[in-house]
Amino acid sequence: MAKFHCSIVISLVLLQCLVALVASESFDFFYFVQQWPGSYCDTEQSCCYPTTGKPAEDFGIHGLWPNYNDGSYPSNCDSSSPFDPSEISDLERSMQKSWPTLACPSGDGQKFWSHEWEKHGTCSESNLDQHAYFKTALGLKQKANLLQALKSAGITPGGSYSLKSIKDAVTEAAGYTPWIQCNKDSSGNFQLYQIYLCVDTSGSKLIECPVFPKGQCSSEIEFPSF
Ligand code: 5GP
Ligand code: 5GP
Repeated sequence: MAKFHCSIVISLVLLQCLVALVASESFDFFYFVQQWPGSYCDTEQSCCYPTTGKPAEDFGIHGLWPNYNDGSYPSNCDSSSPFDPSEISDLERSMQKSWPTLACPSGDGQKFWSHEWEKHGTCSESNLDQHAYFKTALGLKQKANLLQALKSAGITPGGSYSLKSIKDAVTEAAGYTPWIQCNKDSSGNFQLYQIYLCVDTSGSKLIECPVFPKGQCSSEIEFPSF
């Protein structure tokens, strides 16, 4: 009888371990996405500078997005964990600099960050709490200095470049292949809009992307100034 009891307890413990394992490995990798402000703003839709002023001419963070290897992704995973600005008050200045909002009407960024946390961040909560999530993204931006990477290859804002030269420049500097996403300026020309890099589930190191998003660029694209 005691033996029987013991095996039930062991089974339950094993089951709990399995559930915990599945819950903590609920996605496969992150896309770390940075946007070029010049390309967000020169579209037909235009943009609004943040209430804190025009951001520097540099890539800004768009988001850190949990993803699955098959290309699909989880979203809005935990409505009981709303964005709480007080948890990241120590990061606010860095956030304003590195993660500025350009949507209209002008804002201080809280709305953008709240959207990103609630849609994407809550899906990585088992690995990163809110403070760790934002801090990790800020750290990744330091690690992957895209503007510096492009400038080192002679690719500067205000010109037109081959898609391949942009990809090669980032690969050379970051050590991993990026995904380049284009949008169109108000005249309909393809331009460099966002650069995706892939990151492991702990948010600590860049990896090769298991899968790339879909999208379209031309072989030669604009890199507008901002
Ligand atoms: P869009 O359709 O403009 O490319 O993407 C709209 C939004 O959907 C993105 O800002 C992001 O929140 C989400 N999204 C688009 N593609 C992906 C993807 O491949 N992975 C993840 N995790 N989110 C994505
Ligand atoms: P996602 O595309 O990540 O799902 O959602 C982006 C949301 O954040 C949209 O509702 C968009 O209006 C808002 N947003 C605020 N500021 C920005 C910004 O600077 N860039 C982008 N792409 N979206 C922003």
